Amino acid sequence: MGLNVIMMGAPGAGKGTQAGRFAQEHGLPKISTGDMLREAIREGNPVALEARARMDRGELVDDATMIAIVRERLTRPDAQCGFVLDGFPRTVAQAEALDGIMRERNNGPLIIVDVEVPQQELVHRLGMRRICVKCGMNAVPAAQTCGTCGGELEQRADDNQEVVLERLNVYQRATKPVLEYYRDRPTFRVVNGAQPPERVAHELDAMIDDAAGEAESL
Ligand code: AMP
Repeated sequence: MGLNVIMMGAPGAGKGTQAGRFAQEHGLPKISTGDMLREAIREGNPVALEARARMDRGELVDDATMIAIVRERLTRPDAQCGFVLDGFPRTVAQAEALDGIMRERNNGPLIIVDVEVPQQELVHRLGMRRICVKCGMNAVPAAQTCGTCGGELEQRADDNQEVVLERLNVYQRATKPVLEYYRDRPTFRVVNGAQPPERVAHELDAMIDDAAGEAESL
C-alpha cells in the first residue's frame, strides 16, 4: 500500500516546506503544482504561459488543466509507492477527480493533513517570503542567497500585498470547502502550523504515522 499524503493549508502556512521535508525523509516525490507551473513558465511552456496571468493575479488556474497535470505526474514511476501533494487539490472538483485517480491506482487511501495558521500570521509570512531565482526554493528567513544552490533571491510575483489578499480570499472561497469534503475521513488530521517548523514537523510525522495505521485497517 502506498503512502499517499496531501498537505493542505492556506498560502504561507508552511505546507510546501513540510511537504518537501516529509517527502525527502520518506523517499517520496513532493508534487507541488505551484512549483510545476512556475518551472514550466521558466521553460516557456505555452500552457503554463497562458496560466501565468491568472497566477499573477492570485486566481486559480482552471480545474481541467490542473487535473491533467496531476494525473500525468502521478503515472510516473517515482510516484508508484506514494507521493506528497502540495497545492492540489484546491477545489472540490479537483478533490473529486483525485478520488477517481486514486480508485484507478488502487494502492491505498489518501492521508490528508491540514496545516492551520491564523490569517494575520499568513499575511506577515507571505510579505517576508523570498524564493530563489534559479531553483525556485523558498529561502530561510533573512537569508541573502539560496541555501540550496546559492542563487539570488527575489519576491514571488504573487507575494505582493494586494495579490496576497486575493489569494487568501480564493483560499477561503474555493479551497476551504475541500477541507469539509475530507473532514469526515478517518485519515484526516489537523496540525497547528503556528509553531516553530521543527515542532510542526514532529507533530505532523506522528499524525501521518497514526493515519497510516488507520489506512491499513480500511
Ligand atoms: P502555490 O505555489 O501553491 O501558491 O501556487 C501558485 C499559483 O499557482 C496559485 O495561486 C494558482 O494560481 C496556481 N495553482 C497552483 N496549484 C493550483 C491548483 N491546484 N489549482 C488551481 N491553481 C493552482
